[in-house]
Amino acid sequence: MQLLDGTACSQEIRQEIAKEVESLKASGKRVPHLAAVLVGDDGASQNYVAMKIRDCEEIGFNSTTIRMEADISEDALLNKVDELNRNPDIDGFIVQLPLPAHIDENKVTLAIDPAKDVDGFSPVNVGNMCLGLPTFISATPNGIMELFRRYRIDTTGKHCVVLGRSNIVGTPMSILMSRNTNPGNATVTIAHSRTQNLKELCASADILIVAIGKTEFVTADMVKEGAIVIDVGQTRVPDSSRKSGFRNVGDVDFENVKDKCSYITFVTGGVGPMTRASLLQNTLKAYQRR
Ligand code: NAP
Repeated sequence: MQLLDGTACSQEIRQEIAKEVESLKASGKRVPHLAAVLVGDDGASQNYVAMKIRDCEEIGFNSTTIRMEADISEDALLNKVDELNRNPDIDGFIVQLPLPAHIDENKVTLAIDPAKDVDGFSPVNVGNMCLGLPTFISATPNGIMELFRRYRIDTTGKHCVVLGRSNIVGTPMSILMSRNTNPGNATVTIAHSRTQNLKELCASADILIVAIGKTEFVTADMVKEGAIVIDVGQTRVPDSSRKSGFRNVGDVDFENVKDKCSYITFVTGGVGPMTRASLLQNTLKAYQRR
């Protein structure tokens, strides 16, 4: 079994980007600028945004956090999005999800200029991804593809089961794995809560990508000998032994599954850091396109 080390891989990517930023500075050019809009005071969202901003600072990007109260109106948020779309100093921005229930997330996503949509959530970018055109691919699937690339894992002809069909992880992941690219060229099955014979289906996978948000759902009997297992799940569970009071748990029963695998990711040093690195890659790309 080999661990797919997302922390090490993402460090490599950060160093590559930091080098690029250094050379921009040396030639007197401005550096990429990412903005993050944070609505409300959800602890996990605050954490995610803080990490993204810290990542920017570490590699030399400019960054801005825009905080808005939880009871802000949908119109006020749409106005802020419009302002960011038109702000020439901002190369890309994200609106951290989830948003409060009274705000329509689809409306907000649609309002973001696709050229600045570094989360890759806008229909234009999703459509471009489906057609294999230049785009911003959403950070988590992009990070997983990058892991396959950097570990030189051949996915061609493999049976890939993607467990979970969300718009931000499962669905784009299934599309990327089935495209005529390398990595890609897999035969893909996408599974969800209505899938029958899930255990047997998962056990038939050469590559199993799990994004359902159910702690340790995938057990050893659901994994084929020699399979590649990618655990996207990241559920906060209380843990009084930690300073934060919680820890993140994946969707795969890592301890009992790992010895069956050829490759496996570990939560939190697998997909999470690759997702963060992907956002930096997308921001650099947005800057370069401008
Ligand atoms: P989501 O929008 O809640 O979607 C969950 C998907 O899992 C749905 O398609 C759902 O099926 C399916 N599902 C739920 N229970 C199932 C079951 N018992 N059997 C089969 N399928 C089941 O979740 P998401 O946003 O994709 O996130 C999934 C997990 O990944 C979460 O833990 C999240 O925190 C984590 N995540 C991690 C990162 C990272 O950077 N590491 C990034 C994004 C998300 P239906 O469609 O039928 O309801």
